[in-house]
Amino acid sequence: MTLLYRSTRGTADDALTASAAILQGLSPDGGLYVPTEAPQLNLDLNKLPNMPYQEVAFKVLKAFLTDFTDDEIRDCVNAAYDDKFDDPLIAPVTHHGDDYYLELFHGATIAFKDLALSILPHLMTTAAKKNHFKKEIVILTATSGDTGKAAMAGFADVTGTKIIVFYPSQGVSAIQKQQMITQVGENTYVVAINGNFDQAQTNVKEIFNDKDFEAQLAAHGFQFSSANSINIGRLVPQVAYYFYAYGQLVKKGAIKNGDTINFSVPTGNFGDILAGYYAKQLGLPVNRLICASNQNNVLTDFFKTGYYDRIRPFFTTTSPSMDILVSSNLERLVFHATGEDATQTAAYMHELEKNGHYQVKPAVLEKLQATFSADFASGDDDQQAIAKVYKNTEFAIDPHTAIAKAVADKYRQATNDNHPMVIVSTASPYKFPNAVLSAIEGHQVEVDGLDAVKQLQDHINVPLPKAIETLFHAEVRHNTTVQPDEMQAAITKILKID
Ligand SMILES: *Cc1c(COP(=O)(O)O)cnc(C)c1O
Repeated sequence: MTLLYRSTRGTADDALTASAAILQGLSPDGGLYVPTEAPQLNLDLNKLPNMPYQEVAFKVLKAFLTDFTDDEIRDCVNAAYDDKFDDPLIAPVTHHGDDYYLELFHGATIAFKDLALSILPHLMTTAAKKNHFKKEIVILTATSGDTGKAAMAGFADVTGTKIIVFYPSQGVSAIQKQQMITQVGENTYVVAINGNFDQAQTNVKEIFNDKDFEAQLAAHGFQFSSANSINIGRLVPQVAYYFYAYGQLVKKGAIKNGDTINFSVPTGNFGDILAGYYAKQLGLPVNRLICASNQNNVLTDFFKTGYYDRIRPFFTTTSPSMDILVSSNLERLVFHATGEDATQTAAYMHELEKNGHYQVKPAVLEKLQATFSADFASGDDDQQAIAKVYKNTEFAIDPHTAIAKAVADKYRQATNDNHPMVIVSTASPYKFPNAVLSAIEGHQVEVDGLDAVKQLQDHINVPLPKAIETLFHAEVRHNTTVQPDEMQAAITKILKID
């Protein structure tokens, strides 16, 4: 049986294979691809504690990507989860104080997006072969810092692909900028723009939708594709680490097989936590999924009231990867909670696009609340959580992880729910050295970038990840800067198609 994928806004009659859905990215009707039936996972929970990460990932991918052969999946998994990760467990679980931390920051860019973006290029090129694509895939991305870098790390030197990343020259952190301009790989192109992230993003969307430009590319053997987080090829690999974390807890003797556990997930675009929901649907014994937001708490309100309202102030916080008011992947959960009603889902999403808000029916809210709890933490809570965890356990957490920790504490206090808690830990403290150093020292420090990294290392005694260490002496390979209205011309030049 082949598992097919349909749009959250369309009919199942237009359903695609997994490989076609990966190549398509977003459905032409604006919806997101979801499986038409429940995926069947062939995984014995009793064996889970002794399975290597790669084996868990293989089983999970096999359940979702049924038109891939076993060999194809194995090749993708082995190419992705190798020594690019600085821990052989890939996603180790550590225990500090009352909590377990699922460390998703051991990849090439020391943040959780590496788990998906290290395998997506291989899934895409495999999918391209299966669908007899003749053209070279050109990944085009605008980034506010993290995603673009993680995508480049994944696509670097992958045969049959090129990747072009635009970033706002003044809109990324010192570390992120250094990471951008030193990116290796013969097929990677990084361009700074004299503008902000929204301009970069808007222009990338326009370039994607330009039919003439698409034809010009096609004539030269190129085809654009997108690596953004709504691609089903990014979501599915993330399901694996929820299973892996559970196995690690059994292995540590923290739980017995079959016991249920909670996950607290620092949330932005709702991709990470949605993977946890799919894990639960596949049979993982999960009690609650706790959706942790920062001051941009649109999801907290939604899970409490069923009212999604993006018309509100936007805050720039110390957990920038969660500074989001429209969480794209939430659409998939809403689709499932409506009983897979695409008409209803499309109506909600059109209301959101047109008016900036929508209210789900009571029955839908009830479904959501059956699995999800939600709360938020402000910047002060964030700093305090970093300081407290460090003081009590000497473990340093990054500001995103700290939001999940602060919200987990709030949740336990409010509910007395004492199921074992896994804090999904999405970035290395070295990625946000200024914020972590400030929290640990108890006052706002001035130093940032690699200087702050060095000072932080004196405090926390954690070896520098390779991703940071190489920045100290990496060669600058990208120094192009253009105006926002010159982005298309920059692409033309890079691809030599004028
Ligand atoms: C992207 C990101 C998140 C949010 O994940 P979503 O899937 O967008 O909800 C949290 N923390 C870090 C460090 C991230 O890079």
